[in-house]
Amino acid sequence: MTPDTQPTDPPDEAPEETLDPADWEAMRALGHRMMDDALDWLRDVRERPVWQRMPDDVRATFRSAVPRAPATPEAVYREFTERVLPYPMGNVHPRFWGWVMGTGTPMGVLADMLASTMNPNCGGADHAATLVEQQVLDWFKELLGVSAESSGLLVTGGSMANLVALTVARNAAAGVDVRQHGVRAAPGALTMYASTETHSSVRKAVELLGLGTDGLRLIPVHDDYTIDVRALERAVEEDRAAGFRPVCVIGNAATVNTGAFDDLDRLAEFCEREQIWFHVDGAFGALAALVPEFRPQVAALARADSVAFDLHKWMYVPFEAGCVLVRDASAHHDSFAVAPGYLARARGGLAAAGTWFSDYGVQLTRGFRALKIWMSLQEHGADRYGRLIAQNIAQARYLAERVDAAPELERMAPVPLNIVCFRYIGDRVADSTARDLDEFNRELLIRIHESGVAVPSSVTLHGQSGIRVAITNQRSRREDFDLLVAETIRMGRELWKEG
Ligand SMILES: *Cc1c(COP(=O)(O)O)cnc(C)c1O
Repeated sequence: MTPDTQPTDPPDEAPEETLDPADWEAMRALGHRMMDDALDWLRDVRERPVWQRMPDDVRATFRSAVPRAPATPEAVYREFTERVLPYPMGNVHPRFWGWVMGTGTPMGVLADMLASTMNPNCGGADHAATLVEQQVLDWFKELLGVSAESSGLLVTGGSMANLVALTVARNAAAGVDVRQHGVRAAPGALTMYASTETHSSVRKAVELLGLGTDGLRLIPVHDDYTIDVRALERAVEEDRAAGFRPVCVIGNAATVNTGAFDDLDRLAEFCEREQIWFHVDGAFGALAALVPEFRPQVAALARADSVAFDLHKWMYVPFEAGCVLVRDASAHHDSFAVAPGYLARARGGLAAAGTWFSDYGVQLTRGFRALKIWMSLQEHGADRYGRLIAQNIAQARYLAERVDAAPELERMAPVPLNIVCFRYIGDRVADSTARDLDEFNRELLIRIHESGVAVPSSVTLHGQSGIRVAITNQRSRREDFDLLVAETIRMGRELWKEG
């Protein structure tokens, strides 16, 4: 005992507190009720509207003051069931196809509960959770056909996966020690290249890396929304001549707008020839590797220096889960590793040396997001995931056929994967040019959302606004797309009549 910690007199001391329940049996009963309610809620999701706006009186309750006094667990749960649960985003629903979102699974729910029960820090150290994460990474290396020697990291999502990968790309190709000297020391402005269809998270990453938006050259696309490789080659050549330093090309394994695959083989070849880092944003498209028909389109993942993809989109696990794989494990490690005394590795014990994931990314403390992936993959097996992904692709083709067969609808883009873009154009005989079809379709989309029937999202292609259906949903059935088409036409006609 140190001199300044005197023992206090036990009789004067307030009783010590804990956040554990006073009554474990009551907590167990509540927990069982929560689990029953949660599974019922998921089982019956199809019977509810996809989305509904929270009424103003409920909305107003979210401005109440900080709770200073305790409430019973039962009362807190009632707050949740009355004010939160009835107003979901809707992405658990079979007719949610907005942006690119997964549905989650019941096993994912249970696994998240178990992960929080163990509550490990997956930043590092020698315990089971870090081995689970390592195994998940190894499984995806195999499924995507990338080198088993690659390093990897589970992250929050595709945005973080892109940021981590592009950090390694920048550091490896800068020609200077960026960690020590910063980007300003680089011999020529560091420059990255991607198509105009590339996801905004890439732009965010490039900005965060200190290259500026000017450091990301947006290369034009062909009619099918794939990158114009010739234009890329010219841009790199011109930049080199002008003293810029090309460091990275970002290829898309499925673009967010239309699901287009850039020609990854040609990009890989070009990057090998030019000694430029080749990164693939495969947020959802990389998972097409699980479908035999699509293997050739993503075979070049094996040649990429880094790959980013999501588990919470086309692997349907609950948010959040993304992944980054880097072929040169030491370049990955050297971009993030730090060794302060308080993180020293020991010869043995819990702090034993080995892979510390905090050396491969931004976060030190990291949750056990690997468990939901590890348990889900075992529950269903990789082949079933492949079949579900193929099913979503078949559903997109089916929807495209239905759209093409409807005179009042117009398809806006090819459907190479799981995304269908279309718009309502009304009666072709009437003078539809007199209408602002962009504004009309924006209004129609709001009506579709508010009807609770389905949630697609919006798209702008060649300056035209339309409706975009991105299918990464393990609950959708063909009949759901029939309903979408029928209701879009019905609501479109109604709106058209209103003038
Ligand atoms: C969704 C998406 C991202 C971003 O991933 P998040 O998980 O939302 O962070 C990046 N690229 C593409 C192509 C995407 O579809």
